[in-house]
Parts: sequence; structure tokens; C-alpha cells
Amino acid sequence: MRQPRYPLLALSRHRMGLDGEGVTTLVAGAGCPLSCAYCINKTVLCQVPTLVTAAELYEKTRCDDLYFQATGGGLTFGGGESLLHMDFYEALRPLCPDWRFTAETCLNVPPESVARAAEVFDAFIIDVKTLDPAIYRAYTGRDPRPVLENLKTLTARLPSDRLQVRVPRIPGFNDAADQDKTEAALRTLGLTRIERFSYVIRDQK
Ligand code: SF4
Repeated sequence: MRQPRYPLLALSRHRMGLDGEGVTTLVAGAGCPLSCAYCINKTVLCQVPTLVTAAELYEKTRCDDLYFQATGGGLTFGGGESLLHMDFYEALRPLCPDWRFTAETCLNVPPESVARAAEVFDAFIIDVKTLDPAIYRAYTGRDPRPVLENLKTLTARLPSDRLQVRVPRIPGFNDAADQDKTEAALRTLGLTRIERFSYVIRDQK
């Protein structure tokens, strides 16, 4: 059977307090279903990735096994949209069952992927952007409905302390009142780790 391969763009080792608990290695992968107006990763997402098998990624990251085990850390998958690669994670998980797996995700992915991810990942960092349909469409070019449904799936399956949700102020698209509404809707789902912040827009030329 053909082994699933991950479109690896970059690894960033020895991260602390940035994207998950403990010491983490950030694994950046290619591909994203959204087209955010202020995407900071556009250049990265245009690069040609290196396709790696689960065993190959394990070999590239296991040098930090001691750090991961001692601090409760592990691998954080971002990019790009991490939940596009579920076959790969299911192949990788048995190779490093003691590492913490964290997914950075927009959650605008098929519901089957989220159900599978709830079995593989220990924690999620979710960039919902906004739950206002018109603002979401204007900013990302996509329909926001899958995000809400997928949030419900995760809140039903994981404790709220494993779900960190980011609610940005997006200059030119939303305001503090929209952040208030989005945060209130998230709290009705039982989410408690809600991070509000503002995008800093720089010249993207
Ligand atoms: S979800 Fe992230 S990677 Fe995807 S387009 Fe938006 S900012 Fe870029």
C-alpha cells in the first residue's frame, strides 16, 4: 500500500510558549482552503514542498525526543491548513505515541477530517477569524458554516482546555463589536480559552 506523504515546507525546533505546551517543533505544511486577504504565509504556501513519509518526518524530529518527553511537548502542525493530511498523521502517531500533537487549523475542512483529528491530536489552536458569515466570506473567500459545525464536533469530544481559539481584530474587515459577538458565540459552545488580538498589517509587496 502506498504510504501517505506530508508536504513539508519547514521545521522550526525548540519553540516554547508559542504554539502548544512544552518544547515544540513547528512543522509547516503546504496547502490551505482559504484565501485570507492578509495571509502572512502566502510566500511560504507557494514554495514547492518536500514530500515526506511518516517514518522520514519521525527521523527528522526525534532528536528532540528528550525535550518533548521532559516538558510534555511535541509536534505542532501548521502551515497552511494542518487538517488536510489526516492519513499522514494516522501513520505517524504510532511512531511517537508519547509526544503531544497539536494542530493549528482554521477548521474550514470536511467534517470527517475533524472527527479523525479528534482521535489523533491532543490539542487544537483554532483560528476562527470571525463567525459573522458576511465578514468571513469577504476576508477568506469561503463559506464559514463548516467552521461552526466542526467546532461543535471538537467541543463534544475534547475538554475545553485542549481547545484554544483565536479571535482576531482584522483591520478593514471587522471591529471590536464583531469580536464580542464571535467570542459570545464561542462561549455558548463551552469554549473558554479564547485569545483576542489584532492583526498587524504590513506592506505585503
Ligand atoms: S488560513 Fe492561514 S494559511 Fe490559510 S489563507 Fe488564511 S492566513 Fe493564509
